[in-house]
Amino acid sequence: MKSIKVFAPATVANLSCGFDVLGCCLDTVGDEMIIHITSTPGVRIIKIEGADLPLETEKNVAGVAVQALLAEYGKEIGVEIEIFKKIKAGSGIGSSAASSAGAVWAVNHLLGTPFSTYKLVEFAMVGEKLASGNAHADNVAPALLGGFTLVRSYTPLDVIKLNNPKDLVMTVIHPQIEVKTSDSRSVIKQNVSLKQAINQWGNVGGLVAGLFTEDYDLIGRSLEDVIIEPMRSILIPEFQKVKDTAIRQGALGCGISGSGPSIFALSKSMNTAQKVAQGINEVYKKTGLDFDIHISKINNQGVKIMEL
Ligand code: ADP
Repeated sequence: MKSIKVFAPATVANLSCGFDVLGCCLDTVGDEMIIHITSTPGVRIIKIEGADLPLETEKNVAGVAVQALLAEYGKEIGVEIEIFKKIKAGSGIGSSAASSAGAVWAVNHLLGTPFSTYKLVEFAMVGEKLASGNAHADNVAPALLGGFTLVRSYTPLDVIKLNNPKDLVMTVIHPQIEVKTSDSRSVIKQNVSLKQAINQWGNVGGLVAGLFTEDYDLIGRSLEDVIIEPMRSILIPEFQKVKDTAIRQGALGCGISGSGPSIFALSKSMNTAQKVAQGINEVYKKTGLDFDIHISKINNQGVKIMEL
């Protein structure tokens, strides 16, 4: 039996302007997983700690993602999966993506890397389809490739790893209310105006350019969402106060993480990210809601091997 333990990172998808196409990978927030290759064919989830999630292979995102990988691998092997959840499901920081990405990355590694990391994105997307009904890649791509990623196209899938300016630090607040991806998708209108579209693609271009040229002011100016945020922010208590506070404390930009309820703020230094955390902590303390705040550098590697 061959085994490996991995860190399966949390991710921040959308990054304001890039709904369903942009995402980035966190470094200190994520799940742990142990994966075993066995001689008994089939995929089995043998342990889940830290969350009440299905053990049935077909109902667990890690299970279906690994099944997709094995279907293409073609040889009859067995995989056993242990999941140690640290990221809460429905938090908006890629809980399901971490499990799908961590599982396929670990299996691929144990098999001697028959698939490229880009191919693994496709397998992990099968897990996202199970979690939210939509095979989106904006969390699994950064979880697997690390850093910042862009999904240029879904048909055919074309994922691009962007540059990762070294000073960026993320502050994320997770209010402990559950917003299901499916619910937060239902508040979104299916049509946008040309004016909104022009605004939004200007910002996507600006953010990508800012990341490559390491122009932090341009990154900040581009972290603007005129389409989704006005509709979704109503689901998040004190969203506007958190955003105003983060900007006042020096964040480059602030917006909804994935489908929420988590809110992210991107800063140019650890010091600023900590000030942002203090500021939003003051705002949220007054709500009476439970919440967590994470501060993390950007993880340029994605899934990482841990000591077993
Ligand atoms: P997030 O935005 O944090 O990824 P989602 O709402 O997209 O949260 O996904 C969570 C959903 O996926 C829940 O309904 C959960 O039951 C389901 N799920 C199935 N397997 C897993 C898993 N291994 N980890 C996390 N969520 C899972």
